[in-house]
Parts: sequence; structure tokens; C-alpha cells
Amino acid sequence: ATPMSIMVSVGRAAQMGVLVRNGEALQTASKITTVVLDKTGTVTQGSPEVTEILMLDNSISQLDLLEDVASLEQHSEHPLASAIITKAKLQSITLKEPDSFTNVQGKGITGVIAGRHYAVGNMSLMQQAGLGGEIEADANVSVDDLSGYQQQVSELASKGQTPVFVAKDGVLVAIVSIADPIKADAAQAVQAMKSQGLKVVLLTGDNPLTAQAVAEKVGIESVFAQVLPEQKQQKVLELQQAGEVVAMVGDGINDAPALMSADVGIAMGSGTEVAIESADFTLLSSRLMVISDTLALARASMTNIK
Ligand code: ADP
Ligand code: MG
Repeated sequence: ATPMSIMVSVGRAAQMGVLVRNGEALQTASKITTVVLDKTGTVTQGSPEVTEILMLDNSISQLDLLEDVASLEQHSEHPLASAIITKAKLQSITLKEPDSFTNVQGKGITGVIAGRHYAVGNMSLMQQAGLGGEIEADANVSVDDLSGYQQQVSELASKGQTPVFVAKDGVLVAIVSIADPIKADAAQAVQAMKSQGLKVVLLTGDNPLTAQAVAEKVGIESVFAQVLPEQKQQKVLELQQAGEVVAMVGDGINDAPALMSADVGIAMGSGTEVAIESADFTLLSSRLMVISDTLALARASMTNIK
């Protein structure tokens, strides 16, 4: 394609609500064979809400626990953190400043507040001891502790909800259940991609049960769950090594390395700055249909205009 035809396509993309940072990527976009979708904030709305707080221990009241956890989550940019903070605000809780805070990429957070040591996040965070070095054994909850709640956890996960585990001083004290609705056009968008002959993959840091439930609802068969940010990038590289030309769509800091490695990186405009800076295209609307429209535009412009 000529520089002129690329400019024309960049203009058309803009009319569709797609900002093209890298014109050459439009040419690559015409050759995409696989679209990798992040779950939280990409396939789902990214505005999760707390649906239930299951208390497992009476060493702290639910209100005090919510105050501690929300105070810690103030320092996280994760969508799950905003859900917990919103829940606390709805209950008129005033948040405090924690004594310390550590972000554990792809797993959750740890921190100390009023002398209480917390770990808040997924199952793998719960099983990890001595987090961050300076904070000792915040989590280190044994598998036995967790297995007692397996039934409840898999029930809410199979509804597509995310269980957030809370350990206080090394003891599992609560499970916060968080729901993030799937975008209205997600299933239609996956169908549109498939009918263009594209393979569609769901890639998420969330647990396998939740990921599977979401994938089923939108019609995705290929799911990779509980992947850490480096592993998201690794997955993209593996697909490329298998001969796929990969478009990655994501919104989070954790998606940035994968967005950079993909043949075409597509960021949600609602996403974090790091994701947007790492991507070739930015979608101004949250609609997923725009992805297949953009890829179709790229193919059309590369074949028609020479
Ligand atoms: P994704 O955006 O694909 O869900 P992340 O890598 O950001 O993946 O997070 C993976 C998992 O780690 C989340 O599903 C959640 O269980 C846990 N997690 C991450 N950050 C937080 C947080 N601030 N509070 C609670 N849990 C978190
Ligand atoms: Mg995300």
C-alpha cells in the first residue's frame, strides 16, 4: 500500500472510532489470523461490583474488614480494587492510610494496616508466603484452609464471578465475590471475528473457572487463565511461533508487554495509559464489534488500493 492509501485508511478508521498510532500496523492488520482478547475490561465491562462478602472467621467484623481492605485497595489501579472501594463508600466507610502496601502483579495486593497484615487476591497469592520480602508471611494460607470453601468458590466462579480471597495475619478471613458484566456486544463480536475466519483466544489473569464461564457465554473455545503479565506476552509469542499473525486486545498494565509483542496491539480507550502507549490502535468506544470492523477495513484497503 502507498503512504496515500494508508492515510486514507487511517482517516476511515478514525471515523469508526479507532485511533491509529502506527499506520504500518494497518497493513499488518490485514493479515491477522488470531485475535487474543483480555477478559477484564476488554470482554467484560471492567466496572465490577461486589456482590457478596463471605466471612469465614469472627476475629473481625465485616465492616472493619471492608474498611481495612478498601483502604489498602486505594493504592491499586485494578478494576477489582475500585469495586471494593465503591462497596466501602456505599456503606459510608471512611478510608484510612495503610502503613504499607505492595502490589503483587497478576495476583493481588499485600499490606499492613493498624498492625494487621493483609493479603488480598487470588488463590495463588494465598498460597505464597513471605510476600515482597519486607512483609513476612502475609498470606501462606494452606491449601487445606482453602479446600473447605471449594464448593462456594466454584459456584460463584461458574457464574463468571471472581472470588477475591482475604487473608489477615496468615488466616483466610473472607471471600469477596465480584461480578463484572460481559459487554453487550461481546458474543456478537466473537461471532463476527469467527465468520471472518479468525481464531479467537481468551487470555486472563483471572482463575480458570471464571474465565471458562465467561468464554462459554461469548462463544470462545480457546482459553488461557491465571496467566501472569509476562505469560500473556509469552502466549502471544507462542502463537506467533506456531505461524499465527496475532492481534492482541487489552486494557491493563498487565497487557502492555503482550500488546507490544503482538503483530497488532489494540488498546481499549478506557484502559490504562501504559496499555494505550504500548498499542498500535486505540478503540475509542468500548464496543468489541469495532475490532472485526477494523480488521475488515484493513483487508479491504490493502486489496483495493494499491
Ligand atoms: P486480569 O486483568 O486479566 O483479570 P490481572 O493479572 O490484573 O488479570 O489479575 C489477575 C488476578 O489477580 C485477578 O483476577 C485477581 O484475582 C487478582 N488481583 C489482581 N489485582 C488485585 C487487586 N488489586 N485486588 C484483588 N485481587 C487482585
Ligand atoms: Mg484487563
